[in-house]
Amino acid sequence: MKFDNYRLFLRSGVLIVACAVLLALVFLSPGCKLRRQPTIAPVEKLPQPIIRVKLAGPADKIIIAVDGPFTVYNSDSREIFTARKLSLAYCYADKAGIVIGDKRIGGSDFCDIVPQINGTLSLNRRYYRGSLRIYRTSDAKILAVNHVRIEDYLKGVLPGELPRRFELETFKAQAICARTFALYEKVTLRSSRRWDVFATEASQVYLGKSVEISKANRAVDATRGIVLTAKRSNGRWQIFPTYYSSTCGGWTQSASNIANISSDIKPLRGGVRCMTCKISPYYRWSDRRISADEITQALKKHGLLPADVRTVTDVRVIRRTRHGRIAMLEIVADGERRLKISGERFRLIIGSRKMPSTFCDIEKSGREYMLTHGRGLGHGVGMCQYGAEGLAREGYTALEILSHYYPGSKPVRVY
Ligand SMILES: [Zn+2]
Repeated sequence: MKFDNYRLFLRSGVLIVACAVLLALVFLSPGCKLRRQPTIAPVEKLPQPIIRVKLAGPADKIIIAVDGPFTVYNSDSREIFTARKLSLAYCYADKAGIVIGDKRIGGSDFCDIVPQINGTLSLNRRYYRGSLRIYRTSDAKILAVNHVRIEDYLKGVLPGELPRRFELETFKAQAICARTFALYEKVTLRSSRRWDVFATEASQVYLGKSVEISKANRAVDATRGIVLTAKRSNGRWQIFPTYYSSTCGGWTQSASNIANISSDIKPLRGGVRCMTCKISPYYRWSDRRISADEITQALKKHGLLPADVRTVTDVRVIRRTRHGRIAMLEIVADGERRLKISGERFRLIIGSRKMPSTFCDIEKSGREYMLTHGRGLGHGVGMCQYGAEGLAREGYTALEILSHYYPGSKPVRVY
């Protein structure tokens, strides 16, 4: 079976329109507060979308296997061959086409490997559900993209996002966030590349069937098709990028501080008081030390300082967010060059291990900088994962947790 039909569903923007119509017709729940159980529009009419996940490449070769019957199609959807199984085989591109083991698929930019049994396909020794599209790039490299039903995709995402011991309700809240975020990426970026999402932190970490656990799978099944929507200034209810992070440290912040995002998305405006992430080891963190040299090298590596700069000579906070995160920094190099950089960009460049969050102070100490009064881990936008877990342990449901961290959002079942 081939999945391309599903892509048309999202390409046509039906999802967004469906959200608007459903909410207008069916969804009458008032604003959700904690302890008020939000309701969901009960529909099951649209097909489940397929999401395209970039797994590997461009690479010289990949290793694939299928532990059961499968069929290979070319880019004209023509069946090339069928086999009962594929033992570990190299897949690479040559002048004439794509080579899989001892078979060559010529005259085709890509081919699809479609297993008959879901989850029997492996790439570089990791198992995945769905099918695999293998592209031959113009410079004869291989690009591997997993075409997988979004519900199956989520089962390979959740285990990497939450500790296994977390409550089922936390997993359910995470499933809805991850589903919404993935669909948002798919709808927003659909035409610009051959895949919808990366399998890394650039989107959400996806490790396939190999990492599936029953709690995460139950959470995905229990929330099937549910996404979060926000009312936009044009009056329409639409899905939005449901940012989430590990530990907010007490307050969430506005998405506009970390991304170029429209401020009319009310659920992402931040300022949510979070009392429950105290259970996180990063609720407060111990002082960190960063040398001027480390900062200089990191900024040079990212092209923010020219190579002839000797050293960073000062790092000053020039703006903070409402609740005290570092919003903007001024870096002084060699005593004269000045660079303005957002706190979040600086944190990502320095790395989370050295700078877990921007919720801290920076003090100069000789040729070093001390990060003090540190609170939280991650950007602090949207759902706080440890905070969500704290609420779940107090008995709150997934939908209550989501209405807390994304105020004004509404859950909708879109398929
Ligand atoms: Zn929190």
